Amino acid sequence: KPAGWRDRLRGSALARGLSGLFSRNPRLDDDLLDEIETALITADVGVTATTDLIEDLRKRMKAREFVDANALLAALRTDLVEMLRPVAMPLRIDRNAKPFVLLTVGVNGVGKTTTIGKLARRFKDEGRGLMLAAGDTFRAAAVAQLQAWGERNGVTVIAQGQNADAASVAFDALQAAKARGTEVLIADTAGRLHTQKGLMDELGKIKRVLQKLDPSAPHEVLMVIDGTTGQNALSQLRQFHAAVGVTGLVVTKLDGTAKGGMVFALAREFGIPIRYAGIGERPEDLRVFDAEAFVDALLP
Ligand code: GDP
Repeated sequence: KPAGWRDRLRGSALARGLSGLFSRNPRLDDDLLDEIETALITADVGVTATTDLIEDLRKRMKAREFVDANALLAALRTDLVEMLRPVAMPLRIDRNAKPFVLLTVGVNGVGKTTTIGKLARRFKDEGRGLMLAAGDTFRAAAVAQLQAWGERNGVTVIAQGQNADAASVAFDALQAAKARGTEVLIADTAGRLHTQKGLMDELGKIKRVLQKLDPSAPHEVLMVIDGTTGQNALSQLRQFHAAVGVTGLVVTKLDGTAKGGMVFALAREFGIPIRYAGIGERPEDLRVFDAEAFVDALLP
């Protein structure tokens, strides 16, 4: 039986920051709001999202909506869920797309390769025809890693030699997938080049080349974000979004000591769907993002 969200998120900064509050029966006063505010900021919920939440609770407290602190904490839970509900939109594979092209982007080390493996496993388990494009041509190990994964799992991986043109790999792969009637093509991309501008230009070029073969491709630009990087993730997303138009997010490494609050900041600032959450290293630890399960796991 796979581990639950709660087991995996218990150590997060937000869970730790809020658990003290809930356990000691606090009084319903401004100090309570201050404590909640500190817990949210410390867990990287971000100033904007935190201010929204605290001001909402303060207004309702003044209006005597809460009979006690527990009622306020219940309202906090509801507010947190409501903040995430609009972005908890699972990825839908459009069957009319042939193939459905999923372009994965994100900086090195965030868990992109691992996530591709987990996603590929999931699609395979769903019985979908699958192909991978080894588009991180900047890093030889990334190509080898994807090829090894493909061999172990009986999935075709389209690759060219090291330092090959990433856009050319993507083009080849889409052509091959079209010819074979493959249902889903997952294309990997580099997470680092010599310069950041070089990387953004390359991603833009990959997208344009794919669109030469299929104007509706890529059907999903999935950005993988490391849940432990806090506010830095927001600037990463801003940059990738400007370059290629991100349509979905995977937030990884939310297990352990992650500042899970970043998920709220992402939701508040971008409103881009969060498709999956990584809550561990095993294939089954990539979960469809669920607003209630996530918030419940963070609160005592
Ligand atoms: P890439 O450079 O973005 O391709 O990163 P990798 O896929 O190689 O992953 C970097 C490290 O993060 C590896 O050790 C992974 O096992 C680990 N990792 C990826 N996702 C998760 C997750 O959800 N939870 C944890 N704890 N580790 C993860």
